[in-house]
Amino acid sequence: MSDVNIIQLVDVEKSFGSFTAVSNLSLDLKQGEFFSLLGPSGCGKTTALRMIAGFQDPTRGRILIDGQNMEDVPANRRPTNMVFQSYAIFPHLNVGDNVSYGLRHRGIARAEIDARVSEALAMVELGGLQKRRATELSGGQRQRVALARALVMRPKVLLLDEPLSALDKKLREQMQFEMRHLQRSLGITFVMVTHDQYEAMTMSDRIGVMFKGRLVQVDAPAVLYARPRNREVASFIGEMNFLAAEVIGEDAGTLTVKTPCFAPLKIARNPNAVGYGNHILTGIRPEQLAIGRAAPEGYDATVEGQVGDVAFYGENVHYHVRVPGVDRPMAVSVPNYFHTVDYARGDKVWLGVQGASVIDLGSEDTEI
Ligand code: ATP
Repeated sequence: MSDVNIIQLVDVEKSFGSFTAVSNLSLDLKQGEFFSLLGPSGCGKTTALRMIAGFQDPTRGRILIDGQNMEDVPANRRPTNMVFQSYAIFPHLNVGDNVSYGLRHRGIARAEIDARVSEALAMVELGGLQKRRATELSGGQRQRVALARALVMRPKVLLLDEPLSALDKKLREQMQFEMRHLQRSLGITFVMVTHDQYEAMTMSDRIGVMFKGRLVQVDAPAVLYARPRNREVASFIGEMNFLAAEVIGEDAGTLTVKTPCFAPLKIARNPNAVGYGNHILTGIRPEQLAIGRAAPEGYDATVEGQVGDVAFYGENVHYHVRVPGVDRPMAVSVPNYFHTVDYARGDKVWLGVQGASVIDLGSEDTEI
């Protein structure tokens, strides 16, 4: 990934009548990065992608690709190409004709078309399958043909709208790795729209999370997971235990907070957040809680509770633990190192937490 901005969205807005689907969207995408727009259905992510592609015009704001203002540049003249959700390939054409479709309408010589089709098919590991009928392909192969058809146009930016959602889970996971690998080796910028947090996390350099037409947070997957900015992002990505807290002390980088179940904890301060005397929402990831039959040692605070539901996931075990003062049970995730489920419903256990792993989710919404 380079520092060069390949796509710049400047205060972009899209309205349909009185409804604003995308508002105040400003975003710089880097040359060679894999960027995902992630959010629930209807948040405006597809509309944002379609505006980059040129299928929809912004109501307001500017879109630049490779430094050039895209106003008045139609979709087919933009250095972008799009891969759609339903891998729209033509069933009556063979693989080669599907892939060459876009080139054949540009007056390019046959020999060059053939060479570029071979190259694109090799990229997606379908080398030599030119003559195969589209109807004789598996779901994964069809998706690769759709990718090859976009790549053969040698776009600077590949736009992907839920590209893997039609595939079953195993194939989807395999294609996630393949597409990531392909993107790295080609160095093309990929912009993907997805509502699947795991897909976004496994494939992307950076993720932009959208809710209700607004971009709420842009960060690398690990940062997004460790430091979600607010409750919306925290609950959309991974699992989170939410605890209301009162700020009883503060300094430049930290807050001291009192939660209903733990002794006061010193936590890292959210840059947007409020200070002393206020109520905030805090979050603790399930794997950040320690569990034991006695109070775990070396933790900043501990609390005694009782095990409720137990769910065995194979690689880890999830326990729901009721603790005094908190309405919802705390979710605790324990790696299954020893292939045992250590605690059963009704067991008395202790939980431990470090202040450093408690996340300040700000003050705008403390209802749980
Ligand atoms: P999904 O994952 O379900 O596709 P999304 O986040 O991609 O959702 P968009 O397709 O961008 O969402 O739609 C955002 C909002 O804009 C939705 O409420 C949708 O109904 C509305 N919308 C999108 N296109 C149009 C249109 N052409 N006319 C009117 N409303 C539209």
